[in-house]
Amino acid sequence: MKIIMLGAPGAGKGTQAKKIAEKYHIPHISTGDIFRANIKNGTELGKKAKTYMDQGALVPDELVCDLVVDRVRQEDCRNGYVLDGFPRTIPQAESLDATLASLGESVDYAINVEVPDEKIVNRMSGRRACVGCGATYHLVYAPTKAEGICDTCGAELILRDDDKPETVLKRLGVYHNETQPLIDYYRGKGILKEVDGTMDMADVFRAIVEILGA
Ligand code: ADP
Ligand code: AMP
Repeated sequence: MKIIMLGAPGAGKGTQAKKIAEKYHIPHISTGDIFRANIKNGTELGKKAKTYMDQGALVPDELVCDLVVDRVRQEDCRNGYVLDGFPRTIPQAESLDATLASLGESVDYAINVEVPDEKIVNRMSGRRACVGCGATYHLVYAPTKAEGICDTCGAELILRDDDKPETVLKRLGVYHNETQPLIDYYRGKGILKEVDGTMDMADVFRAIVEILGA
């Protein structure tokens, strides 16, 4: 099962992708997580990506596509995967399609998690990320047991720099210009599925399972 998560930044793609990966035993591939791990490890890719991410801009396609193409060719992706945060542009979608076509494969589902812009700033200003394992929480909707401490690994939680309101507004603009056209792209391919992302997390997941099958 090859799944793409679509939606604005903060719509809940990562939250749902983790649950999908667990239930269907497929890898969760988040390009944002891959870049953040590279930044933490001080790699060349991380240094390049950071300059774009800090501004709320997209990392250039050529830095993203090869990375994903290599990843989906790995052995653990044979039974599928859930892509979270990729593709984000039409050229990225075309690059993924071309790679899959060369393997005789194609994407099965593009799930669009819909959340209106006015709710996004609230979602993102309350998001907290673990500096240790990268787990994501929300001050109101997904709080940790002890304030400011990750439930999973005990490390400190932070507000991502790119989740600060001024950067969120920029990221939303980029989303509408560059990423939203993918909704029509996948609709045209007959694999678009739409889910109301304003419901609580469990209900969003139920709606997704209904689409994918138990
Ligand atoms: P994305 O991966 O699309 O950027 P996340 O999954 O990180 O978004 O979710 C953004 C924030 O909103 C997180 O803090 C998360 O805990 C919270 N969140 C996710 N889904 C919901 C939901 N259905 N209702 C309320 N808050 C949510
Ligand atoms: P995310 O964690 O998905 O919200 O991504 C955080 C940031 O990483 C984005 O704002 C972009 O700067 C960068 N990024 C992640 N995925 C991509 C992608 N597919 N294409 C371009 N930039 C990306």
